Amino acid sequence: MEISKKPVFAKDGTEEVFRVIKKRVNEIVRELEPQRRLEITLKAILFPLMYVAAYVVALAYGQNLTVLYSCYCVMGVMLVIIFLNLIHEAVHNTLFRRKWLNALYIYFFDLMGANSYIWKVRHTRLHHNYPNIMGWDSDIEQSPLVRVFPHGKFSGIHKYQHIYMPMLYPLFLLNWLLVRDFKDYFNRKKTVWKIIRIPAIEYVKLFLFKALFLFYIIVLPKLVLHITWLQAITAFCIMIFTASIIALIVLISPHANTENEFPLPDDRLHMERSWFLHQLYNTNDVREDNWFTRFFMGCFNYHVAHHLFPHVHHVFYPEVTRIIKEEAEKRNLPYRSYPLLITLKNHYLLLKQNRMPENIFEETM
Ligand SMILES: [Zn+2]
Repeated sequence: MEISKKPVFAKDGTEEVFRVIKKRVNEIVRELEPQRRLEITLKAILFPLMYVAAYVVALAYGQNLTVLYSCYCVMGVMLVIIFLNLIHEAVHNTLFRRKWLNALYIYFFDLMGANSYIWKVRHTRLHHNYPNIMGWDSDIEQSPLVRVFPHGKFSGIHKYQHIYMPMLYPLFLLNWLLVRDFKDYFNRKKTVWKIIRIPAIEYVKLFLFKALFLFYIIVLPKLVLHITWLQAITAFCIMIFTASIIALIVLISPHANTENEFPLPDDRLHMERSWFLHQLYNTNDVREDNWFTRFFMGCFNYHVAHHLFPHVHHVFYPEVTRIIKEEAEKRNLPYRSYPLLITLKNHYLLLKQNRMPENIFEETM
């Protein structure tokens, strides 16, 4: 068998099961689409307005620091809500029927500080195609300070990662916005460079949008409200810390925990399972499901449905998940769902488990 340039999934006969599920999913989406379109459009307008409104109130009444800090906290919450409900859908081209409208909408992400071009590549082409595969899933791959993959490069500091990482989690977005995006652009050893060459215009946009973001989020309030630099930066940190914690709860729970596998391709880059089975073994759902998770949290709890059908909008995931569950049960295939607190506990256990190189860990258990 030839050596492939990217991991290749096996053909193991489960493709037919996926075809059956896909057919049922297409039918239900077609049926529900007219009545759910309003909710999709409403969110696309309402959530950005809430973010802008919080910013305007901060600029108007922020001399009162309680108002300023509260507004920035709301903006942190809205950042995650916009990311989950809108940006994430737009990168998958599901927010609007027209592709160009999705492409345009994604710039909201740049306005909120993250680089949309590189995240789209990381998320749709690496994370979705190769979830939990070391060297390919760049969403799971984070700073060298943390060893999430059991086969990841080990350094002495990882021994304490289960202690210091939870304390560093409020800095997650600070790292994303001010360090990680730049690393992906300038360090050609980063995973994204395995599949793309970044066009020159994207470098220009990177710097322009980062400067614009830092200007309106820190400099403008400082100038308009006549507050100190420390107060302006504190407001920014409140926003980032709030967003980081909510974002991490959502991002960690479906993949980075001990209930999921982290399989490696063989030396010819061939994977043991089919793409369909790979998603079932490496993604779990979160059991909590209510009006809040559906309307505000972008149905993040239905993550298996998202991995199998990234081109279907999240408003359909409750029904899509019912189909996946039924078909998986019929054939004894894994469909897994855990309470949120259990997934977070299992994430902590994963950090603890990977704090040592595998052999040492086994010996000391
Ligand atoms: Zn996605």
